[in-house]
Amino acid sequence: MISFEIPPFIKNQMQLIEMVAKQAMRPFSRELDENEHARPTMFVNMTWPFAQEMVKRTLKGLEKPEGGNGSNGSNGQAKARTGPDYSILALIMMIEQLSWGDAGQYLCLPHPMLGGAAVDSAGTPAQRLRFLKKFTEGTPKWGAMAITEPMAGSDNSSMRTTAVFDEETKEWILNGEKIFITNGKLALEESDGLCVVWATVDPKAGREGIKSFVVEGHTPGVSIAKQEHKLGIRASDTVSLHFDNARIPFENLLGSPEVRTQTTSKGFQGAMKTFDSSRPAVAASAMGIARAALEFAQERLAEEGIKVDYTKPLHALTAVERDLMEMEARYKGAWLLTLRATAQMSHGESNRLEASMCKYRAGEAVTWITQKAVELLGPLGYSRELLAEKWMRDAKINDIYEGTKQINQLIVARSILGYSRRELK
Ligand SMILES: Cc1cc2nc3c(=O)[nH]c(=O)nc-3n(C[C@H](O)[C@H](O)[C@H](O)COP(=O)(O)OP(=O)(O)OC[C@H]3O[C@@H](n4cnc5c(N)ncnc54)[C@H](O)[C@@H]3O)c2cc1C
Repeated sequence: MISFEIPPFIKNQMQLIEMVAKQAMRPFSRELDENEHARPTMFVNMTWPFAQEMVKRTLKGLEKPEGGNGSNGSNGQAKARTGPDYSILALIMMIEQLSWGDAGQYLCLPHPMLGGAAVDSAGTPAQRLRFLKKFTEGTPKWGAMAITEPMAGSDNSSMRTTAVFDEETKEWILNGEKIFITNGKLALEESDGLCVVWATVDPKAGREGIKSFVVEGHTPGVSIAKQEHKLGIRASDTVSLHFDNARIPFENLLGSPEVRTQTTSKGFQGAMKTFDSSRPAVAASAMGIARAALEFAQERLAEEGIKVDYTKPLHALTAVERDLMEMEARYKGAWLLTLRATAQMSHGESNRLEASMCKYRAGEAVTWITQKAVELLGPLGYSRELLAEKWMRDAKINDIYEGTKQINQLIVARSILGYSRRELK
């Protein structure tokens, strides 16, 4: 059964996160928006100790993994589940609050992030320990995940980055280009972090040939080809990566190296499983921005004496009051869907449908809510004096990455109507 009660440890954690959002993020929002590619140093320094603790919690019990020997194989669980895993809810709530502070800065959290989600989904317990332990010690580190290529975005079967196995050195050799990679520079050039790179071991095999590989920071043959200039989340690091005969150890392949066998399908499914956890995370970030815009609009309008009277019927409300009500309804609907997908994850249940549903809904809600906030605030909403226009720009990315709005809609439709990928595309 799913409970909406928030455990006390998360409530305590949220007080600290709220303080970070208010003191280390909001005051720097405008400055970092106007100085793209500058780093949110205060946010990084404040959150690094906390981020390390979070990773430590998730690695607990992995020191002696049962069935994980460091080689590639099935993604076994380290120990049997004894109850809901609340660390997932803690993460989702933290993402929402940090994105309320500033979504671009939140994406710079020194944490394995998407790279960690990919290692968790497709790696063995021994691989999780090996790759993620460094996020619990030393100087700040970042994680990233690289799927998108110039000719492969929504349709990743046309991926061209290759991984060729060198029998002599027992290494994989990566060649190709990845574009629009969040935290790519922070993970690979500015720290000893990691990036999970999707590449094909057999270009003729389509999706079945696609595998995920862990590329660690400062690997020779990996370079930053371009730093993006963006519409929103401008504090976030977004780059193109170039792989020129980059060599990585055999053991850095997540899942099975085989192609066209049952095990392999599982390997690809393991990689796809990353989205089951990353989509609720994106939805949570969208919800943080939506709440920022909603609260701000409510406060500003309340100062002008405009407040929703929930006891009045809809026809007795003004147009502005109805807009405020609709903003709140869309926010709450999308947030509840996000919590549902999160609760399923915490209980170890499949959430593929709900992960896409909440991502789709949250992306749509945040773009609508932030536009409404700009509209309701009048010319000031459009001015750089306030953050409303920035939230509107920050919002749009949630409709794009981790599967666009249209792609998540397709996944939901296929799942509900029982169509295969081939039947409904
Ligand atoms: C700021 C930013 C950060 C990013 N971070 C990362 C990252 O960290 N790692 C990473 O790998 N990628 C990242 N991306 C890339 C992002 O995931 C892709 O842009 C996204 O998946 C869409 O792929 P595409 O750009 O190739 O668009 P396309 O796939 O070419 O799609 C273009 C349009 O066509 C629509 N479309 C495509 N196929 C269909 C269909 N079958 N039915 C209906 N509509 C369809 C899409 O919804 C979209 O509207 C990032 C992008 C941005 C902008």
